[in-house]
Amino acid sequence: MSVEVLFAGTGTSVGIPMIGCRCSVCTSSDPRNTRCRSSVYLSTPTTAVIIDTPPDFRQQMLRYKIERLNAVVFTHAHADHFLGFDDIRRFNTLMGGVIPAYADPVTMLEIRRVFHYIQEIPAEKGLYRPLVDFREITAPFTIGDLKFTPVEVEHGKRMTGYRIDHAECSMGYVPDCCGISQQAIELFQGMDLMVLDGLRYRPHPQHFDIVASVEVLRMIRARRSLLTHICHDIDHATLAGELPADIQPAYDGLRLQLPDDSAEPSP
Ligand SMILES: [Zn+2]
Ligand SMILES: [Zn+2]
Ligand SMILES: [Zn+2]
Repeated sequence: MSVEVLFAGTGTSVGIPMIGCRCSVCTSSDPRNTRCRSSVYLSTPTTAVIIDTPPDFRQQMLRYKIERLNAVVFTHAHADHFLGFDDIRRFNTLMGGVIPAYADPVTMLEIRRVFHYIQEIPAEKGLYRPLVDFREITAPFTIGDLKFTPVEVEHGKRMTGYRIDHAECSMGYVPDCCGISQQAIELFQGMDLMVLDGLRYRPHPQHFDIVASVEVLRMIRARRSLLTHICHDIDHATLAGELPADIQPAYDGLRLQLPDDSAEPSP
């Protein structure tokens, strides 16, 4: 029994290419330099979960032919992580019921404010609206055979990362982060995979730069680490060549099997 991890998006809030930008990365022919906004799809034979629904959510689901989804888990209420949520309604149809959505209380309040029309019961007059069971999280929770432990990190606003445990493997997912406590680092230690914010080379007030991210990943010491939420300052192949083999940039469409991953982070 294993978990498949699919990187549906690995880009920063504007995506790559960025609208109106003619830089070498935004015009690159390397497909790994095209990045949707960040989200990750976790699936086992019995359970499928998406972490975050970016504005690209619909395109991501189509591109990777995703047809099953048991729940949505949110990290935080920045637009690039949740504005695609309305398209969850297709999964109400495909799965034949209400989809649960998990978020910390602060994030939940903002998501419910923006998507105020979403309820648990069908809309009157036959409008095709999402059916969602909103579940506030304050403690670890399980979805099917996956256990999620929320981990609060610094990001300038409330941001919840997750440690996800399955029978024989574990991973961490923190797409947006500018600071992390010792307690959180210890909670993430000993995992198969850690995914962490690695925005760009230059410092940013709300995101780790590459040097800071690698430093934290060295403390977490996962068997393998991947950077996500990457901006157009970074050419994939260049960064991949600069980093050690166990810490690599992720890219859209990357699939890993945990614990027996055979895929390499860079083809
Ligand atoms: Zn973000
Ligand atoms: Zn650019
Ligand atoms: Zn953010």
